[in-house]
Amino acid sequence: MRIRFRAACLCAVALTSAARAQTPRIAASPTYQPGIDALDYDITLELPDTGAYIHGDVVVTLRRSPGLKRVRLDLVDGLTVRTVDVNGARVTAQHQGSKIDIPLDIAGDSAQVRVIYEGAVTDGLVVQKDARGRWTWFGDNWPDRARQWLPTIDHPSDKATVSWHVIAAPSETVVANGALVSAKPVRIRGAQRKETSWRESRPIATYLMVIAVGPLDRYDVREPDCHYGDAGQCVRQQVYVLPENRHWLPGVFSSVGPIVSLFERLVGPFPYEKLSHLQSSTRYGGMENASAIFYDGRLFPEEKVTDALIAHETAHQWFGDAVTEREWGHLWLSEGFATYFAALWTQHVRGDAAFRADMDRIREQILHDSVVAQRPVIDTAERDYMRLLNTNSYQKGGYVLYMLHQQIGDSAFFGALGSYYATYRHGTALSDDLQRELEKTSGRSLAQYFDQWLRRPGVAEPSIGWARDPSTGEVSLLVLQQDARGPFELPLPLMITRADGTSARLTVMVPAQARAIVPLPGRFDVQPRAIGFDPDRRLLARIAAL
Ligand SMILES: [Zn+2]
Repeated sequence: MRIRFRAACLCAVALTSAARAQTPRIAASPTYQPGIDALDYDITLELPDTGAYIHGDVVVTLRRSPGLKRVRLDLVDGLTVRTVDVNGARVTAQHQGSKIDIPLDIAGDSAQVRVIYEGAVTDGLVVQKDARGRWTWFGDNWPDRARQWLPTIDHPSDKATVSWHVIAAPSETVVANGALVSAKPVRIRGAQRKETSWRESRPIATYLMVIAVGPLDRYDVREPDCHYGDAGQCVRQQVYVLPENRHWLPGVFSSVGPIVSLFERLVGPFPYEKLSHLQSSTRYGGMENASAIFYDGRLFPEEKVTDALIAHETAHQWFGDAVTEREWGHLWLSEGFATYFAALWTQHVRGDAAFRADMDRIREQILHDSVVAQRPVIDTAERDYMRLLNTNSYQKGGYVLYMLHQQIGDSAFFGALGSYYATYRHGTALSDDLQRELEKTSGRSLAQYFDQWLRRPGVAEPSIGWARDPSTGEVSLLVLQQDARGPFELPLPLMITRADGTSARLTVMVPAQARAIVPLPGRFDVQPRAIGFDPDRRLLARIAAL
């Protein structure tokens, strides 16, 4: 997501059992709509040749808790619901307050709810005509804009598989999540049309369910070898652009294969059937829709798409898409990972100095950001989800991962990410779930680490002095942390300059105490000339000298 610039299937039984087999091990929708678990969406959309008036026919296969009598699907009031059926029987549903309230007077725990609707979409599906008179239709759902064009349980906690059947003019290219199933001519209301079907067989969040329709040219990225995805299939990558931008391909998109290879090596197999990269009309710099990344279309004429942007959005396929934050307040599980993995890509191709420069720049942003100073990274109080697209979720989340990586090392860090991905892939997770995996591989409690960096606003602000006891030759630090929000536990790097001008580096652990005396190891026969704290500026800390 969201690099900001400054940045009907009626095969009921088979589908239900298939969808159930795909149900993640993690309980769905515990808070948004308790007792309801959407398993699959089968979406048929008829698009006009021009304009934004759509006809929709959506079958939601869901499971309910015993005795639950109603389900509410999110759909804006601007669209008109024509009929609602439950398990093939017409029901009377109330559509108001952007909800369709549907009675479930049925036997058993599973239901197929079919909604037929129509109207002019104003958001979610972005419909535009460009200067050359060409119409395009691009889904752009983050955070909860799927309801602008699709009746869904529109919350990241409830993931489901999705089939798309898009009926459009025969000349249009249609791309959606998952694998292409078919493209065939159809006659609708006497007109020759084309129906293109795609199927995403892995459960995904509604904010990632998209279609792209327009005069898009396809470019197949050449890769000598398959990437084998998590179902053992060969994952291919494509780029779709308006025809006038095709001449510079693959350009920066030659990096998409190596990016996927790197992240597979670090985390685990790619989670989806294919990966397409599309010039689009997303409002974001990039949007990580599952298996179909949408980029800001304005970047293409000037060839301004960067490999860092591609790496960021591609990292989301693992973090955010396959493993989805169950609540919006844990957005850093998406954006922090995408930020850090883009930096790891930089390190891979440009080396340690470039990586360090990235992390230094990120650290400076964090230290000077007012939202960081006032709100925690895990921000469950914020209700305006757009405001979560901030330095906390992106830069601080990424930097918190970086510091932890430094502290516990490659093996424990990537080992935990691999098990976190394997455990929660195609499901949802919260920050505690990540913490648990990191604690297993590192063998240490990370309760203090997660609490101080993620659940509190701000950064560490210790005041540090030092003194040598001439009678023992011992040098001790005095560390004061009197911030009302609580002290931090800090592995504090030191640069000790001895009297003879030689220097040594070491790291001491500062405990999470308002006032701590931290003895340095060894003896100092003479007074050191100087002691520098965090000399490479790695910590998220503003250090004052006592
Ligand atoms: Zn992102």
